[in-house]
Amino acid sequence: MRYWGFLFSKLLAVAGAFYCIWLGLNLCLPEPTSFSDFRLARFAQDLPWTFAIMVFWLAALGAVALVAQDQRYRCRTCLRKLRMPVGGGAWDKIFRLGAPQVEWICPFGHGTLKVFELHFTGRLSDDWREHDADIWRELELLDLKK
Ligand SMILES: [Zn+2]
Repeated sequence: MRYWGFLFSKLLAVAGAFYCIWLGLNLCLPEPTSFSDFRLARFAQDLPWTFAIMVFWLAALGAVALVAQDQRYRCRTCLRKLRMPVGGGAWDKIFRLGAPQVEWICPFGHGTLKVFELHFTGRLSDDWREHDADIWRELELLDLKK
């Protein structure tokens, strides 16, 4: 819930920023000229407005993409940026080592995100696995096997 709330708040901040930019465009750019009783539209009939709307649209899409990319690599529990990317698998040894993937871990041990780099049948979604609350248990189990 906290994870999605953070995403929603970032999207809301981006929307607010771009709304302010839109208001600034309305203040700075003049209205399109009109011929007798025919009024030109802003988009596709007035070059400055068309160019401004195109740049505005591209910047808004870029901002949303940055928000989505930032959110993808955040811990689902504490919202910190995931760290320590570790590559796994290999392209040339795919049958022996598995498909190429990158694992990111939360610096406080809340979980691991596995990002697949190979997508045979459509895009594979990222695999988030939460760790147990007791981070030492896994290490203790490894000692018992020896
Ligand atoms: Zn975390």
